[in-house]
Amino acid sequence: MTTDSRAIYAPLSESTVIDYIRDSPLIGQVFGAKDPLVSQDLADGNVNLVFRVSVRSGRPSVIVKQALPYARAVGEGFPMPLDRAEREFRVLTVEAQQCPGLVPHVYHFDPVMALIIMEDLQDHRILRQGLMHQQRYPHLAYDLGRFLARTLFMSSDFALDSADKKRWVQAYSNPALCRVTEDLVFTQPFQNHPNNHWHSALQTDVHSVWADDALRSDVLHWKYVFMTHAEALIHGDLHTGSIMVSATDTKVIDPEFAFVGPMAFDIGSLLAHLAINYLVHAIAGTAETPPGYADGILGVMRTIWTTFVTEFQALWVQSPHELAPPTAYQQAYLRRILRESTGFGGVEMIRRVIGLAHVADLDTIAEPSQQTRTARTVLTLGRSWIMQSHAMATIEDMLALTTEAAASSQQGG
Ligand code: ADP
Ligand code: MG
Repeated sequence: MTTDSRAIYAPLSESTVIDYIRDSPLIGQVFGAKDPLVSQDLADGNVNLVFRVSVRSGRPSVIVKQALPYARAVGEGFPMPLDRAEREFRVLTVEAQQCPGLVPHVYHFDPVMALIIMEDLQDHRILRQGLMHQQRYPHLAYDLGRFLARTLFMSSDFALDSADKKRWVQAYSNPALCRVTEDLVFTQPFQNHPNNHWHSALQTDVHSVWADDALRSDVLHWKYVFMTHAEALIHGDLHTGSIMVSATDTKVIDPEFAFVGPMAFDIGSLLAHLAINYLVHAIAGTAETPPGYADGILGVMRTIWTTFVTEFQALWVQSPHELAPPTAYQQAYLRRILRESTGFGGVEMIRRVIGLAHVADLDTIAEPSQQTRTARTVLTLGRSWIMQSHAMATIEDMLALTTEAAASSQQGG
């Protein structure tokens, strides 16, 4: 890995990215000086420029991800600081140490151009797409449970020296992107805000969310936890669009929202996106949906959680740290993480139906009445995860709420 800097920032295009690579340390490292290079604009995320640069035959290749001074999908009216590229680079570096093999390899970082050159996961696809196409990934749940346990434990007060932990809080401070989450996840979807949009058939459902003071009080509680609980270095945007998979491999990408925050925000967000995918298959499954596919997604959720717990406790046992606690404390701590994950996950589900950023799982349901029914059930389940979060004792409680929501939707409830 190399770092280097140019004099001034300029956003790259499909053609200038090739000039950039030709002048970079990637020549000699990945490409030969005379290789005929081609590029392709890949950006399907909401935020940054992403290019694939390869030799004409397709391999070798790299990914160039460059921050823009604003969010790509929204435009210049949504400013975002360029320093997020550096945070993403630093977090990918830390995660590679914590979980070797579970993040893409970084070849090069350029702080002035705000870009990262990384391994091209050509043989992988975005998990959300794979799940929408009813693929099964036997290693996925174990890999993600392990990713969560290791990244969260190793950046917590249970692993870091007391002074180091305080330094991490400062070093990964991410005020601008945290503000985006506070606004887009916790605030705007729960009030009438111009950034929101939703399907017109859901008008009554959306107004009932806004009118529900008990729900909005709980959401405010989760926002407050998000803002104040500096527990571990979290990914900050961990959903099925931030994970790339092949039949045998899992990689977590895109940690630009990372900061030292509540562990359960990552876990809850990931489980919420899997729950959405479960509801899509359970309620709006088609003739092509393999039997048992929706239940398989519940199995992935269960195994992520149980692997997280097992690995987290194993790290605790191995840790010589002064905060290595007795078993009763460990169990109480992990139960709190489950309750908080359920609360955060419920907020995430609702915001993906009402707020600025939606998810393709729901948006691509072809039959309009099924789409409405599924989105409505996502709202119902989000509400139930939020309002019942205090009662979650095991992962089975969370899964039971999830299957109950699907069953009552199928009965026309
Ligand atoms: P954003 O921050 O804009 O959301 P992402 O990091 O999510 O950007 O990347 C956007 C898209 O680019 C991904 O959905 C994926 O299709 C592609 N992509 C990103 N990183 C890689 C990679 N290392 N290998 C292959 N494709 C990638
Ligand atoms: Mg992304």
